[in-house]
Amino acid sequence: MSADDFAGKVVLITGAARGQGRSHALAYARAGASLVLSDRCSDAAAIGYPLGTEADLAETVRLAEELGAKVFSAAVNTSDREAMDAHVAEGEAALGGIDIAVANAGVSGMAPIIDHPQAVWDEVIGSNLTGVFNTIASVAPGMAARGYGRIVTVSSMLGRSSAPSQAAYTASKWGVIGMSKSTAQELAHSGVTVNVVAPGNIDTPMVKNDNLYRKIRPDLESPTWEDIEPLLGMLHAQPIAILPPEDVTRVVLFLTAEASAHLTGIVVPVDAGAATRTSA
Ligand code: NAD
Repeated sequence: MSADDFAGKVVLITGAARGQGRSHALAYARAGASLVLSDRCSDAAAIGYPLGTEADLAETVRLAEELGAKVFSAAVNTSDREAMDAHVAEGEAALGGIDIAVANAGVSGMAPIIDHPQAVWDEVIGSNLTGVFNTIASVAPGMAARGYGRIVTVSSMLGRSSAPSQAAYTASKWGVIGMSKSTAQELAHSGVTVNVVAPGNIDTPMVKNDNLYRKIRPDLESPTWEDIEPLLGMLHAQPIAILPPEDVTRVVLFLTAEASAHLTGIVVPVDAGAATRTSA
């Protein structure tokens, strides 16, 4: 990657209020890009942990501006296609054509298949699959017309494997890979690349929350991170249970750098070796 790969570029990131989305936003800001940031900024009734807030998104914006970035931000739910289209139009009017898009927003919704709440399925598929589709579909026309674009979608190590109580999440994350490869092939003649990052356990509020601890250790009254760390660690191959968001950010930047112009339709795991157990 060269130092000026991202200078003057316009980068759209969904789910930017916190976690990996914030880490990506600050890295692009540091590299001289302008940012179109969004987050739903509201909780989801079917999801048992708090999601990003207006204050979280405002803090990402503050930190990015402190690094010198121009930022356009809005509360947008990626599952709403009209809202995503409007967000892209407003972001482009404010900062110029979007060069890079990171479809990062997502939720975790674990539920056993016996008596699986329909609302969990609808929310997880709506945010993680339809939301990624809407993000790609809203930026692709402008990118194709301008003959340049770099899209990164966010799958998971569960996008190529399975686990109990993860029917909706795995369906969404396997789906992201198929959708990304199809669009990569379709856009290959338009100067637009589409690649996938597949994180393992990443240190964000999606993992570090009481709801997940209770789902993983229902035998304990008040499980803590220390109670689930060894179990989550077993998903990785290297002896580390959780990785910093910046590990994912480095790969997102790599996939959107000039030197990656001829990488498209690939899946890059950032998962401490979990992918050693999956097929090619
Ligand atoms: P996070 O919960 O900290 O951040 C996700 C952000 O997305 C939140 O701010 C949330 O409000 C937002 N969001 C959720 N649904 C949305 C929607 N429909 N519209 C707009 N915003 C929405 O978690 P994170 O770890 O930063 O997650 C980022 C991505 O990484 C997600 O797609 C997630 O599935 C994926 N992922 C996470 C892990 C992990 O271990 N943390 C592992 C593999 C994949």
